[in-house]
Amino acid sequence: MDCIFCKIANGEIPSNKVYEDESVVAFYDLEPQAPVHVLIVPKQHISSAFDIDESNSAVVAHIFEVAAKLAVSLNLADGFRVVTNAGENAGQTVKHLHFHLVGGRKLGREA
Ligand code: 5GP
Ligand code: ZN
Repeated sequence: MDCIFCKIANGEIPSNKVYEDESVVAFYDLEPQAPVHVLIVPKQHISSAFDIDESNSAVVAHIFEVAAKLAVSLNLADGFRVVTNAGENAGQTVKHLHFHLVGGRKLGREA
């Protein structure tokens, strides 16, 4: 499948990884919107949050565990945000489920 985040997950495309395990990879966003801007991505291809169901939601719980660990290792004790964009109105540009972990500055109400 021609999916950029599948290719990052399997190493075909290089990325600046901060975390990896058997089901998840986390890497720095190419165009950071904050001092810390990491994308946490399931290795399994899931197109968006519209496609989360009982068959694959365990990886989403795991992603939030990874976010909590990264918030410590990336020094985000003052606060962080986790957000996922799904569909056109949300501005989703990459059609592989991903969670933005952002922090390192005071965040506005609109991400
Ligand atoms: P979305 O707009 O779909 O929620 O987020 C996609 C994010 O992926 C954007 O913040 C964009 O900067 C990032 N991105 C797109 N292509 C690449 C890439 O090849 N490498 C990395 N590290 N980030 C990317
Ligand atoms: Zn994919």
